[in-house]
Amino acid sequence: MGSKKVKAIAVRGTKEIPIFDPDAFMDVYHDFWKELSPNDCVDIFHRPWGVAGDSLATDYIKTMGGLAVKNDQGFDEEVPSFDIGSATIRKLLVRPMSCFSCGLPSCSQLIAYGDTVLKMHTGSIIGLGSNFGITDINAIMELHKIWTELGLDVSVSPTISWTIEAYQRGLITKDDTDGLELKWGDPQIILKLVHKLVFKEGQFGELMAEGLKALTEKYGGEEFALHVKGLDITLVPSRSMYGMGLAYAVNDQGADHCRIYPPYPPNADAVPEHIELPFDVEKAAIRDIPDEKAKLIKWSFDSRAVLNCLTTCVFLSRGKLFSDFSYFARALTAATGTEYTHDELMKIGEKICNLERSYNVLNGNASRKDDTLPKRYLNEPFKSGGSIGMVVPLDRMLDDYYKARNWDMATGRPTQEKLLELGLDFVVEDFKNRGVWS
Ligand code: SF4
Repeated sequence: MGSKKVKAIAVRGTKEIPIFDPDAFMDVYHDFWKELSPNDCVDIFHRPWGVAGDSLATDYIKTMGGLAVKNDQGFDEEVPSFDIGSATIRKLLVRPMSCFSCGLPSCSQLIAYGDTVLKMHTGSIIGLGSNFGITDINAIMELHKIWTELGLDVSVSPTISWTIEAYQRGLITKDDTDGLELKWGDPQIILKLVHKLVFKEGQFGELMAEGLKALTEKYGGEEFALHVKGLDITLVPSRSMYGMGLAYAVNDQGADHCRIYPPYPPNADAVPEHIELPFDVEKAAIRDIPDEKAKLIKWSFDSRAVLNCLTTCVFLSRGKLFSDFSYFARALTAATGTEYTHDELMKIGEKICNLERSYNVLNGNASRKDDTLPKRYLNEPFKSGGSIGMVVPLDRMLDDYYKARNWDMATGRPTQEKLLELGLDFVVEDFKNRGVWS
């Protein structure tokens, strides 16, 4: 949409959307919510999530030594000083908060801030806290409040943190920043930088607003620029969770974890007996080995493509729902009157992923060369802590991924055989006409 200069498309209808079998639809609706009740859900995070929300993810990330600190430099020895996990959030908690009409107890937390309340989540705690070297929860809340008022998301964080690191390395100077001296851990400096970015103040503000790619083209420093395919990373750890690293790299959108949301960690107990997953769940759950990650991530992309088309939140599909799509198949069948099975939905998901990939191939930005990660995650191991020594073994996992997808190993493009198998004959024709395979 951006390349076509479209901001949004609004659609308004005046007719009703009829449900083919309302009783069957309500049956699956009730079964689905029962699945999410704390008594029945087998998601290990489900109960504590109901109180502390996704701030639990901060605890988990800290424990495994993957917290992004100061542009994700791998300073794990500083992690103990970052007291910004669920315990801090619980002290300020007003109440857990779900999105409208969601059956999950909470993904966010309403927390007290002065005479108001803020809706916090772990992305802000890491992106606006540890990644800027800020440990004071009040400072993080103030940044979060301003971020929200300005309509920013946390993916601006790597642009700001790159700027501070580039200043410290001497790539940019006070002349570039209009006299601003940049250092870690100072919320006032962060606010001045974000002001520059949002309001495109001066030449530097203009460049910051264009994002990391534009900044590195002018100043260098690509080796510590945290983006994939030009999209700033959302700071879910890559080096300490190989599956996530692969997912960021092969995502056609770039470094966006919401497109995929692989279950981390996948929980073997949450797989119902009648479901056979196309990967070894035990091995896929081990974060620091490359084995089975390709199959896990292929399956995650395919299944999440279906959820996105059904306009269901991917964060909802944890626990048993991360593997059993029978509820979604039943709901779709009841709504449309056309029979769908779990396996058919997964095939549709695979088709969507191949179609997306093909579209990007034709636009010249989907290839093995593009499926990469920030160099920091490939070359700079964590220096201490629970993920010491870890970098992402991307080449091995890319080979496995293309093999699992039946894509060309050298180029990362879908093969003719795969496209025909999925019924995408028109793409084959298009690829031939444009010489994609020649
Ligand atoms: S599961 Fe999704 S819809 Fe529900 S509260 Fe979480 S983010 Fe919102």
